[in-house]
Amino acid sequence: MITDEQISNALDLGEIAELISNCERCELHKTKTKDVPGVGNEKAEVMFIGEAPGKAEDEQGEPFVGAAGKFLTEMIEGLGWKREDVYIANVLKHRPPNNRDPLPKEIEACWPYLARQIKIISPKLVVFLGRHALQRFFPSLSISKVHGTAFKREWAGHEQVFLALFHPAAALYNGDMKDTLKEDFNKIPVVLQKIEEQTADKKQLTADKEKPKQEKLL
Ligand code: URA
Repeated sequence: MITDEQISNALDLGEIAELISNCERCELHKTKTKDVPGVGNEKAEVMFIGEAPGKAEDEQGEPFVGAAGKFLTEMIEGLGWKREDVYIANVLKHRPPNNRDPLPKEIEACWPYLARQIKIISPKLVVFLGRHALQRFFPSLSISKVHGTAFKREWAGHEQVFLALFHPAAALYNGDMKDTLKEDFNKIPVVLQKIEEQTADKKQLTADKEKPKQEKLL
């Protein structure tokens, strides 16, 4: 059985994918076709986290490649980015049969993989796609209340910025939700810009503090 320690010692995303391919920490490996560890850039500034692979993802071994994935990709490309510029993962790395909701024990068994992926990628912004992702991190938050508003929280020893969005699959066939999701999605570059400004301000503050006092010559 793959241990938490093995996962938290993984050095890169390839090692995590390798562990996932041998994972038997829950029952889902018995019914999976392919592993779906995640896809994208190891140095991404933005990391998207969905719920679990569906049928298309299970067949192709890549997250968000079905109808919801097509919509997500359109929104990413609408910002002038490509899928390869970001990182996309799910809370679960193997498909629940018939796309049923993830069970709490499956979420917990799979959690160390996601935690390690975030640590390795170290994104400026973590974007939750839907309530399952949001609630694994912040069980008391409701997606209908917090969607579209970025918030900063202490997470894994540092301050991390999060943004929750409606799940693209939920929004796909609901016109109002779809408009809201698109509106919220377009806030991503604005949030990134704010994060960069705040980081620059902090650096300036530290530099000012460390600057040696000017000697008075006269
Ligand atoms: N829905 C998800 O949450 N993840 C996928 O990868 C596809 C659909």
